Amino acid sequence: MTTVAQADTIKTLTTHYIDGVFVESHGREVMDVIKPTNGKVIARVTLGDEEDTRRAIAAAKRAFAEFNRTTKEERSRYLRQLHEAVSARIDDLTDVMIEEYGGVARFARLIVESGVTAFAAAEKGLQELPLKQSWGKTTVTLEPVGVAGLITAWNANALFICLKLASALAAGCTVVIKPSEMSSLQTRVMVEALNAAGLPSGVYNVVTGLGTTVGAELVRNPDVAKISFTGSVAVGETIMRDGAATMKRVTLELGGKSPTIVLDDAALDKAIPSALILAFLNSGQACAAGTRLLVPKSRLAEVKRAIQEGMRAYTVGDPADSSIMVGPMVSQKQYERVESYIRKGIEEGAEVLVGGEGRPKGLEAGYFVKPTVFVNVKNDMTIAQEEIFGPVLSVIAYDSEDEAIRIANDSKYGLHSAVMGTDLERARRVASQLRAGRVVINNMTDDPQAPWGGFKYSGVGREYGKYGIEAFLEPKAILE
Ligand code: NAD
Repeated sequence: MTTVAQADTIKTLTTHYIDGVFVESHGREVMDVIKPTNGKVIARVTLGDEEDTRRAIAAAKRAFAEFNRTTKEERSRYLRQLHEAVSARIDDLTDVMIEEYGGVARFARLIVESGVTAFAAAEKGLQELPLKQSWGKTTVTLEPVGVAGLITAWNANALFICLKLASALAAGCTVVIKPSEMSSLQTRVMVEALNAAGLPSGVYNVVTGLGTTVGAELVRNPDVAKISFTGSVAVGETIMRDGAATMKRVTLELGGKSPTIVLDDAALDKAIPSALILAFLNSGQACAAGTRLLVPKSRLAEVKRAIQEGMRAYTVGDPADSSIMVGPMVSQKQYERVESYIRKGIEEGAEVLVGGEGRPKGLEAGYFVKPTVFVNVKNDMTIAQEEIFGPVLSVIAYDSEDEAIRIANDSKYGLHSAVMGTDLERARRVASQLRAGRVVINNMTDDPQAPWGGFKYSGVGREYGKYGIEAFLEPKAILE
């Protein structure tokens, strides 16, 4: 057995949030929370079990009887209360995100702020969505689907909780949230913030626990009508398969291997820094990360120089330091996963331009890897096909625009893409041919009313704005 060092003070978390109050866990299993910058235990969390989950589902079901009849105005008011309550804790949420999983300061704050924005965006989306339409003798209403199970990944837990909760409540659903067990400290601060909003009891409930216990109970339970999930393809497949037994509606936000196409007319002094931001977003632990960089063969030498220059900014170290661009991987397992892909890239014949295997000098204690850029990558190599979920970029050279589009689409994923070029008409033409749920032109940008979600293995359904709310609604027609 390996022993793990402990921090001087260790927090303990033993409660879930059910029916408007913090209650002691029925589940007894205890999990260590390990700080990724030094590998020390900083907290112990008592995990929920199936019984905790069933209690939370029962509370959500009781609350649904009232909540599903609330008006748009009432739900809008609740969304404003949540917006205000979570806004008040932005600093705390950012700090705990940095501590618990090593998210770099600038990205952590952005994630938390996006979560806050989600409440305002859902309020706007709700106003734009006609919940009742009539013609002739027909009336169609959009009704809340029922109790929803919201299951999150660890890499932006605060954002996923806010986004899914905002959409579900806007639709009139009540929920049970199962946050990633690797985000227990962040979840605790989030639940304190949500609790301060003063919503009716049982409307949202939170049970922290493992996917195979709490998550599986949500997927299996006949009183849960809908699962909204963010995580890996493997678990997404399980949810779709096991949810079929109770005809669950599902929204699945899964992985990606996003291409960034640099067109031959791109200004490299702008395009490459933008491409690097996309690639190394959240230390590469981002579903949208642009981890395949497609560049014209004719400009490969220039691109390599621009990358080497640009990568000097990608400092690795303590994520609490605001000058740091790349923090540690979330866990030992994730560290080993990223290292194994770097090894695989070398074995398959790709050339390391920047970075490589092993920990950066002076950062031996935590789960740090070297931000790595491979060149001479072929799109059929493992590092170009599989999601690594770490700071590893593959540069692939192409001969023509058509070939660039073909390579970009030659992936099982289709979540996010980017096109960089000077001629905007041309960039739009290329964007229109990419099989992805979202394409950005010339820069990473966002619009909380625009849909988010994947083609192919990147998922099923959409989140954000009115699209996200629709995912929690059922159309119902009354004909006279
Ligand atoms: P994961 O699939 O391991 O876990 C996600 C959640 O599912 C966790 O809460 C986990 O406890 C739960 N879970 C595990 N087994 C379950 C089961 N059998 N039934 C129900 N729930 C179960 O993913 P992760 O490691 O937390 O996150 C990384 C993955 O998430 C990456 O693939 C990444 O691309 C993806 N992701 C996608 C998006 C998106 O918007 N598309 C955003 C962020 C992350």
